[in-house]
Amino acid sequence: MTEPGVPLYEFACPACGERTTVDDEVLEALLASGCVFCESPVSRSDFERVHSTRS
Ligand SMILES: [Zn+2]
Repeated sequence: MTEPGVPLYEFACPACGERTTVDDEVLEALLASGCVFCESPVSRSDFERVHSTRS
């Protein structure tokens, strides 16, 4: 059985330097409301697409 690939993104905050991996839903939330750590505005360029974990 194969799982559908979940798009994941590594977020690196340009303001506070915190890094976290998020899915598309959280990415949109961050773009709307800013960094979860320091509340600075973020843009799509602060996210890098990564592959979901293989099992
Ligand atoms: Zn931040």
